[in-house]
Amino acid sequence: MNYFDYRGGRLHAEGVPLATIAAEVGTPAYVYSAATLRRHYKVFAGALASASPGVKHLICYSLKANSNQAVIRVLADLGSGADVVSLGELRRALAAGIPGGKIVFSGVGKTAPEMRAALEAGIRQFNVESEPELEVLAAVAGSMGLRAPVAFRVNPDVDAETHAKISTGKKENKFGVPFERAREIYRWAATHPSIEIVGVDVHIGSQLTNLTPFERAFAKVAELVHALRDDGHAIRSVDLGGGLGIPYERNAPWPHPDAYAGVVQRTVGNLGCELIFEPGRMIAGNAGVLMASVIYVKQGQDRKFIILDAAMNDLIRPAMYDARHEVMTEREPAPDSAFEKVDLVGPVCESGDMFARDCEVPPLAAGDIVCFETAGAYGAVMSSTYNTRPLVAEVMVDGDRFAVVRPREDLESLIARDQIPEWLRGGAARGGSAKGA
Ligand SMILES: *Cc1c(COP(=O)(O)O)cnc(C)c1O
Repeated sequence: MNYFDYRGGRLHAEGVPLATIAAEVGTPAYVYSAATLRRHYKVFAGALASASPGVKHLICYSLKANSNQAVIRVLADLGSGADVVSLGELRRALAAGIPGGKIVFSGVGKTAPEMRAALEAGIRQFNVESEPELEVLAAVAGSMGLRAPVAFRVNPDVDAETHAKISTGKKENKFGVPFERAREIYRWAATHPSIEIVGVDVHIGSQLTNLTPFERAFAKVAELVHALRDDGHAIRSVDLGGGLGIPYERNAPWPHPDAYAGVVQRTVGNLGCELIFEPGRMIAGNAGVLMASVIYVKQGQDRKFIILDAAMNDLIRPAMYDARHEVMTEREPAPDSAFEKVDLVGPVCESGDMFARDCEVPPLAAGDIVCFETAGAYGAVMSSTYNTRPLVAEVMVDGDRFAVVRPREDLESLIARDQIPEWLRGGAARGGSAKGA
């Protein structure tokens, strides 16, 4: 459910025509809907509250899905915490107003300076992924005279049944500590005076459309919590990660948050633990579109190509995860429009720069605007400047208002970040003569 709809034949984000945004900000641009972000957060929180009444929940929005300050602020205002995976994300969460006590720090490669910053911010917990990481954390916390709150991320060896690049809970993946060795690792970790064991953490992957892998993983976590308590650890929190899938294609099957919350209650609802969740895609995915203009309509040998001003550097998901994003034209197709099959492509010099093959669209001409749906998560955050294409603008709509929440990157400053070494300056290109020439 989102707030991108036709009104009077023109595509709107909430109360704002996308054509207005395109005229003012240009294309390509990401457009986010604040109402959709709020709605998704509330649907998720509401599902958990009704399935597990009386159980404390903390939703730590996973910043890596979309870390724009405006997006984080909308969620922070609803009480969201943050799941961060780098010093940069920690700083973003704090800058947007999320208190340290609602921040969890995940990731396999936290460095000592990142740990120090997180301890200074008083974060809720470190989701530790290995023994060497715990040793560094113990040393850093010890040197600061603090105790670091720790949950180990366990790898339950469960197949998430999702795309291989976003599957994280199998034993061949780099994530988490082996489930079989978890008790031994907790026992060893608890001997460090600067470490406070607080919980257990699991995250098995992203874009899960089947709930069975969650059920398997959470059941293993519950079993582990009992075993750890038997071993004398005071386990008070269980972090279940993110991963809930969303529909990218119309009519695709996807799990409802109510069903997910039911799985949560059945598996870990009666442990007496606070439950932490790290949803990313589920909150931000349908809350954003990527808006692009048609540059050319090109008739190839036997296919028609719609060449857009947006490309794989702006939205990598089709090239990286074989993802398909539904496309909406800015003008609502007339009821009698003859749809045709086209390939929607970008200008980047790679055949992989394709948004959709054999996509059914109404007739399109140069200058027309199209929107790729479900681009709010893993869109702008994964963009690059490949082909020296500046990062695109990001816009937030809230009711009848809109604002640029990140201006389009300026080409001059992008190029000016490069530096020519001293010994290359004043060479042939500048009219001088190179040494030895
Ligand atoms: C990516 C990630 C998430 C968010 O995953 P979604 O599928 O976007 O909900 C949560 N926790 C961790 C540890 C992650 O790496």
